[in-house]
Amino acid sequence: MTVPEMYGSLVFNDKIMREKLPKDVYKALRKTIDRNTHLELDVANAVAVAMKEWAVEHGATHFTHWFQPMTGFTAEKHDSFISPTGSGEVIMEFSGKELVKGEPDASSFPSGGLRATFEARGYTAWDPTSPAFIKDGTLCIPTAFCSYSGEALDKKTPLLRSMEALNKEAVKVLKLLGNTDVTSVTTTVGPEQEYFLINKEDYKKRQDLIFTGRTLLGAMPPKGQEMEDHYFGTLRPRVAAYMHDLDEELWKLGIPAKTKHNEVAPCQHELAPIFDTTNVAVDHNQLTMEMMKKVADKHGFVCLLHEKPFDGINGSGKHNNWSMTTDTGLNLLDPGKTPAENIQFLVFLTAVIAAVDDYADLMRLSVATAGNDHRLGANEAPPAIISIFLGDELSAIMDAIEKDEFFSAQKKVAMETGAIVLPHFFKDTTDRNRTSPFAFTGNKFEFRSLGSSLSVAGPNVILNTAVAEKLSKVYEDLKDVAPEDLNEAVHARIKEAVIRHKKVIFNGNGYTDEWVEEAEKRGLCNYKTTPDVLPVFIAPKNIELFTKHHILTETEINSRYEILLENYCKSLHIEARTLADMLGQQFLPAVEKTIDRYVTLALKKKQLCETITSKTEKRYIEDLSQAYDTLYDLLQKLTADTEQAESIEDVLAQAKYYQETILAEMAEIRTAADEAERKIPEDLLPYPTYSQMLFYV
Ligand code: ADP
Ligand code: MG
Repeated sequence: MTVPEMYGSLVFNDKIMREKLPKDVYKALRKTIDRNTHLELDVANAVAVAMKEWAVEHGATHFTHWFQPMTGFTAEKHDSFISPTGSGEVIMEFSGKELVKGEPDASSFPSGGLRATFEARGYTAWDPTSPAFIKDGTLCIPTAFCSYSGEALDKKTPLLRSMEALNKEAVKVLKLLGNTDVTSVTTTVGPEQEYFLINKEDYKKRQDLIFTGRTLLGAMPPKGQEMEDHYFGTLRPRVAAYMHDLDEELWKLGIPAKTKHNEVAPCQHELAPIFDTTNVAVDHNQLTMEMMKKVADKHGFVCLLHEKPFDGINGSGKHNNWSMTTDTGLNLLDPGKTPAENIQFLVFLTAVIAAVDDYADLMRLSVATAGNDHRLGANEAPPAIISIFLGDELSAIMDAIEKDEFFSAQKKVAMETGAIVLPHFFKDTTDRNRTSPFAFTGNKFEFRSLGSSLSVAGPNVILNTAVAEKLSKVYEDLKDVAPEDLNEAVHARIKEAVIRHKKVIFNGNGYTDEWVEEAEKRGLCNYKTTPDVLPVFIAPKNIELFTKHHILTETEINSRYEILLENYCKSLHIEARTLADMLGQQFLPAVEKTIDRYVTLALKKKQLCETITSKTEKRYIEDLSQAYDTLYDLLQKLTADTEQAESIEDVLAQAKYYQETILAEMAEIRTAADEAERKIPEDLLPYPTYSQMLFYV
């Protein structure tokens, strides 16, 4: 199969729809997809028949409503197409009703209190804007998931609502600016995904990786990432074979995997697809993460998506490239050749700047997880302070607008490579900045604070909604201005936005202490940990934002707030318990065995010759006995305090306790254990070391 033949071969895409559906049905479905109109049941029935036919042709026997509950993973419950005919035989059947609606039991998914007040029954509803696909012989139908009374229980529902809100507000502003041929605006997302690959055999021996996704113990190897020899390095054959297979699997699913390379840390890699409409990109990213794990298994690897699998080694993130596009094909964040004169671009740009400034707290919230807390602000990922990198040219334009000065565009500078044989090209007008959480990168913004395992739905809900809000303000301010005064009013509006929100713009190095101080002076928020930031979810200004644009109801907000807090506590509870088990059942016994070995050795030496001092053995015995006692005490304390944590009723207080007390105790144990680890002979170590995991792939 050639790549174009392979691409999308497992997707019920537009081409297949056109082939398989009666013309009027196809048209009706297209209208629903493109313009969010209601879908009639007879259309759904016809689509279901065609879908089933196509799926069965491709070997599918089952179908599932594929959805994204608040667990952060995807969920599926498979039903076969079979339907008895009464004569002991079956036929393959699939109805419009089965396509459109499913009724999984909602009671076992996180609902954050919604369960208590509402029925356990949940519904999944077909999202026709994201194409169905076949995975492992099952037709997967992307769906939204809500409770009996309509509360969203998933990540897709608010995302679709936020895209709708942005669409509505953006079109209004465009019309006002005279761009009347635009009928819809969608947001686009391209998520770059980082991951680690380690040997499956190693993984199986590490309880911490199995239960928590990250190592809780493990001394640094003699070599880390200091040589910077892995980034963009040649792919090792096994890894190259994995990436090749992964690309093919993704292409079959219509996921446009495009770029792949080694990342900074040993065993770390990255994959980026070509961007797509936001909800499709979100679904695709979930599928990509699933495929990464599945394909890894076939190659004897395990794919780690945790934000910080290895202490002392860079963790993994996800870059959310984001923009807005009109149905006429215009990227609203494309500055064009002369951005200073591109009023429309400046209106949308300043709306994004205002949105990020006023809702920086929600942006920070949208990337807050226990895992990501190990990265943000740790000089490997952006700081926890949300700021915007605009680059030199746009910053100069902002400056000129503020001061009412004329902006003269920089001439494009030819790149001087010094070699005649190399092609000549122009330099970009902005350099790259790796430390900014939210960077303008030519014709899109790149939100870089996301952790690698996070669904990109949440951050995009915030972005879409906050920008929709700012666009609605632009519209409110300008809608009654007389046409002849509009130009001036728009200019004044842009200027005002620049003055008010320039504090969030920062083009410097975000890793320095000076920036932390400076940001505080500017009044920017700096929420260091997840428990610190979660309460902003229920701040009145944010509740108002979500309810005004019909993204989340107050009930849904409260339920989500609770789920996030609970998830945080559960993650840390599992980590603490896992560490306690590893320490008590594996590490301390290994220390004992080592001591025993040295004791035996010393005794043997003494038997052999009275005058041998066994000085070294004695030192090992002394050091390790001391470490043993220390670790034993720390283990007792951790166990008692974990129990204490579980008894705290107020879930915010509980989260804070986990963050302040339990995490600190875990870190203390780690320091002591990692030092002792270096004194344990390799054959007595209960699990593979960092060296083994990171340098023997
Ligand atoms: P880099 O590593 O330099 O940031 P990559 O090429 O790895 O760049 O990733 C850039 C990502 O941005 C790709 O997924 C790309 O498709 C995406 N992208 C490009 N244009 C847009 C856009 N208008 N909207 C959203 N994403 C975009
Ligand atoms: Mg990038």
